[in-house]
Amino acid sequence: MNDIAHNLAQVREKISAAATRCGRASEDVSLLAVSKTKPASAIAEAIAAGQREFGENYVQEGVDKIRHFQETGMMGLQWHFIGPLQSNKSRLVAEHFDWCHTVDRLRIATRLNEQRPADKAPLNVLIQINISDENSKSGIALAELDALAAQVAELPGLRLRGLMAIPAPKTEYERQFAVAQQMAVAFEALKARYVTVDTLSLGMSDDMEAAIAAGSTMVRIGTAIFGARDYTQ
Ligand SMILES: *Cc1c(COP(=O)(O)O)cnc(C)c1O
Repeated sequence: MNDIAHNLAQVREKISAAATRCGRASEDVSLLAVSKTKPASAIAEAIAAGQREFGENYVQEGVDKIRHFQETGMMGLQWHFIGPLQSNKSRLVAEHFDWCHTVDRLRIATRLNEQRPADKAPLNVLIQINISDENSKSGIALAELDALAAQVAELPGLRLRGLMAIPAPKTEYERQFAVAQQMAVAFEALKARYVTVDTLSLGMSDDMEAAIAAGSTMVRIGTAIFGARDYTQ
């Protein structure tokens, strides 16, 4: 087994153990492989090991990879945009990605809706919540969720699938769990109101167990699969 296949197997094992510990089925938690800054060859190794869902943070880099795998005839991949989205880049996300995790204002939602090609399925969107990081400019407060969700749900080019958050890093499990649980409560309330809602994108390498215990349905893991990122180039 190559490193990436080996790493993927370990991460899947960790997810499944965390799910089992809290009485959940491991199929209820999907793994988003975060491939930002990594070359197509690394993604190809992950595909060979059975991975199909990939997360990218930078629009142009993601689009280049999506095109690459389309040209090689690879079907069935799901591409998730998980980075901060500026209005002037929304068209590329709407035209190429399957998911956007970082919708946090009506203006972006409206643009994605208008720019989604008519021959594609609606873009799956998650509303990003700023759950604990006062310094982050991304995401809305929970108090603003109902209003934005109602507006997003009206847009035919988008499908409201749920919520995403990037909690401020904390080392203690109890604190990670408390924050994750706030997200889970908001997610359950949203799910009760919209039949399309089924996804809580929450949990990274260091807080995955707490996120899964609280009810996350999708964890986003990069380094543990692909190794450390090199930002010097
Ligand atoms: C980079 C990133 C990840 C993955 O982080 P790792 O530490 O490499 O596992 C997850 N979610 C988001 C939003 C990211 O930007």
